[in-house]
Amino acid sequence: MTDRYTSFVHHGFGKTLAQKLGLPQPVPLRRHTPSAPVVTGPVLVLSTAPAAASGDSTTGASAGEHPPSDADAVATLLLNGLGSDELIDVRRSPHTAEGTRWGTVIVVATEVTHPNDLAAAMLPLGQVLRGLGQCGRVLFITRDPEEADRPAVAAARQAVISTMRSVAKELRRGATANALVLGADATVTGTPVLSALRFFLSPKSAFVSGQPVTISSDAGHVPENWDRPLDGQVAVVTGAAQGIGAEIAATLARDGARVVAVDIPAAGESLARVANRIKGTALQLDITSPDAAEVILTHAVDRYGRLDIVIHNAGITRDKLLANMDDDRWNSVMTVNIASQLAMNDHFLASEHFHRNPRIVSLASTSGIAGNRGQTNYGASKGGVIGMVTASAPLLAEHGGTMNAVAPGFIETTMTSKIPFATREVARRLNSLQQGGHPVDVAETIAFLVSPASVGINGVVVRVCGQNLVGA
Ligand code: NAD
Repeated sequence: MTDRYTSFVHHGFGKTLAQKLGLPQPVPLRRHTPSAPVVTGPVLVLSTAPAAASGDSTTGASAGEHPPSDADAVATLLLNGLGSDELIDVRRSPHTAEGTRWGTVIVVATEVTHPNDLAAAMLPLGQVLRGLGQCGRVLFITRDPEEADRPAVAAARQAVISTMRSVAKELRRGATANALVLGADATVTGTPVLSALRFFLSPKSAFVSGQPVTISSDAGHVPENWDRPLDGQVAVVTGAAQGIGAEIAATLARDGARVVAVDIPAAGESLARVANRIKGTALQLDITSPDAAEVILTHAVDRYGRLDIVIHNAGITRDKLLANMDDDRWNSVMTVNIASQLAMNDHFLASEHFHRNPRIVSLASTSGIAGNRGQTNYGASKGGVIGMVTASAPLLAEHGGTMNAVAPGFIETTMTSKIPFATREVARRLNSLQQGGHPVDVAETIAFLVSPASVGINGVVVRVCGQNLVGA
């Protein structure tokens, strides 16, 4: 599914016109297919640590007698196929492979202690960026600036994150840049880093760019089968009859979960189609009803004996400038988008059926982060989601679980197709990838966050917005 403008500027007259006028020429993004490898093309591992930077082998070990650096450890993870039997071509120096089209460049900057340390990796990165392949990946790994013990360390770590954001804006041809930010209890060899590498290096993260994702601990376990990490688990997806929710349901089912698809009775027919397609069950339910959580829990436990994952996806918009806002528009959005989730979470968390490594992901929005004209009600509700997730994460951790949010930007769905043409076209292009995302991009991000390998990622908001250029 490529939008019409993207097709137009890649063929014949449209291509010539776009080149002459300097118009955006977004490339169709590479997306996950079942048999495709996680990593495409050679991976270059650069380091801000001088000893590792001098390593020139493809074995993952640097020259000399230095203890293994974090960059060595990352190179070894890659050489071990990121936990599967995939053969990955790993290089430690750009000079060993002159003229290479890189699939990925990883900059390991966990050991920086001063902003002056950055040049050792950032300048070599600059030299290889032109050789980054279509839909290539740049991934930075650093530590949390807020946990630094000295201003110079904090400055260096924050500078890594900011470099990442600027690099993401300089990349073209569908390439992305993101950062893993490790907390004090997280190591580069921990399972969540493995999980994050498998996500960020693969086409599953096609529309995620410019994002720092904090990994707070090494908690999590490697699934027996990376293709079915959710085997044996039961997931509930609200608003699953169409759009992003239908895609989340399909993606979690692909990953092995048995899925309860929830939507309002009026969407019953399409809900049944989604549930049949993924061999799940359909549950017609308005999530604002006072007994919604009880009905969901009873349904999941009666059918499958358990509930492991809840995805709060159902959401509505009722746009108006605040000056023209009425009670109904304000209250209905707040009730569906946030109040219902707070009430359901209270109920789920009080139930012993939801105490075995429970996982929740809630749909926020970039409007809840940056604000949006005409969306005070919607932005408030989605900001509420972010506040709820941050505060609830420790409660889930008590039971070995997590709660996170994804914040989509412009995603091609029925919701966004209702935006007037000119506004829609501008909204769609104003991100670093110059196109709208697909529902599957949100779904893949959620699948990454609920993976048993990602338990060390808790209380974060991951934007799936192609790095929106306007707002935060
Ligand atoms: P959509 O309108 O296509 O689908 C939403 C689904 O939720 C519908 O099937 C609807 O029937 C269901 N729903 C609404 N109220 C409900 C209720 N009370 N009980 C049960 N089900 C209910 O929307 P979408 O574009 O797929 O968006 C899904 C989520 O992603 C929403 O939370 C939305 O706010 C968020 N989001 C979407 C975008 C985007 O660009 N599409 C951007 C940012 C955030």
